Amino acid sequence: MRAVAYYKKGDIHFSSTLPEPKINSPDEVLIEVSYCGICGTDLHEYTDGPIFFPKDGETNPLSNIPLPQPMGHEFSGFVKAIGSNVTKVEVGDKVVVEAGCGCKDVHRWPDSKLYEKRKDTFCSACENGIDNCCENYDFTGLGVVGGAFAERVVVGERHIVKLPEEVPTDVGALVEPISVAWHAVRVSKFEKGKSALILGAGPIGLAAILALKAHGASKIVVSELAERRRILASKMGVEVFDPSKHGDNAVTELRNIPRGQHGFDYAFDCSGVKATFNTALKALSFRGCAVNVAIWGPKPIDYYPMEITLQEKNLTGSIGYTVQDFEEVVAAMHKGDISIEECRHLITGKYKLEDGWDKGFMELMNHKEKNIKILLTPNNHSELD
Ligand SMILES: [Zn+2]
Ligand SMILES: [Zn+2]
Repeated sequence: MRAVAYYKKGDIHFSSTLPEPKINSPDEVLIEVSYCGICGTDLHEYTDGPIFFPKDGETNPLSNIPLPQPMGHEFSGFVKAIGSNVTKVEVGDKVVVEAGCGCKDVHRWPDSKLYEKRKDTFCSACENGIDNCCENYDFTGLGVVGGAFAERVVVGERHIVKLPEEVPTDVGALVEPISVAWHAVRVSKFEKGKSALILGAGPIGLAAILALKAHGASKIVVSELAERRRILASKMGVEVFDPSKHGDNAVTELRNIPRGQHGFDYAFDCSGVKATFNTALKALSFRGCAVNVAIWGPKPIDYYPMEITLQEKNLTGSIGYTVQDFEEVVAAMHKGDISIEECRHLITGKYKLEDGWDKGFMELMNHKEKNIKILLTPNNHSELD
């Protein structure tokens, strides 16, 4: 099968000889991939990895499947075949797939090191339905099992959400990054009519605009250094802020923007540097909530705890998503709370699988400022299929 696969750190390439994925468990579904987005995490796996992928010579504990594996975890497609117990979808359905994997997937892989322990008893997070906090949380397309920079992919039926007719497959591939932001908004316990600050206008920061609008935010401000990204954010109808223009006064200026000039009710750090982390806390109103959505390297940073204490602020984090987030994002697209046309602002390129490395990965690494989301089309589908 044709795929762009992860071999090891510094080695991701196209191959036409990857093994064809097969349905091995009665709850599995074979999907023909329409579009799959390249994620910042995919780039990190190349430059700094393996992070989610197994190390050289090792295998993922959930599946025990070795490298190389096709990458790709942000995808849409059509159901091609279903296992004997599948009831959620039928052959021909247009779908998206929640890519998280944990205890509830181990039963699919009898060779897994965790098979005996987890085939029918789960870790406490999974037991409580908080699947994204699983002690073995990982992703399809990031080391557990082959992903969707490939012609076909096999997934468990519980991860699948059907796409309504009016949501095209290219926008379908954005449901995953939008679900990351949607989950963060859900974790913050966002209340309609409140104000929100987004730090960083990369793919997740822009997705957070869509999620916050759908949740009825009264005011959304995006703080971003890169001009191109600020332009994109303002096209999506929010106020933008260039912190470099305000020097030491940036936080004070930000705090003055919301009504009453008392700071923001919510702040989402989608950037993940010391300055944005601290700005998220400082720009908050009393009892406001700051959410760290960014993925950080292993180095700790300084912050002042009284920043939280004196005005009883909340600081929390958000990781990945659950199927519920995918269902809610798709429903919001269906209702028009998330605009399909606005979603398209996030797509900055569409390429064939064969060009995935040169025009996809390399373009994103060399021209970060110009790009948001590049999609690969393994079967050369058009969004109209
Ligand atoms: Zn991703
Ligand atoms: Zn678990």
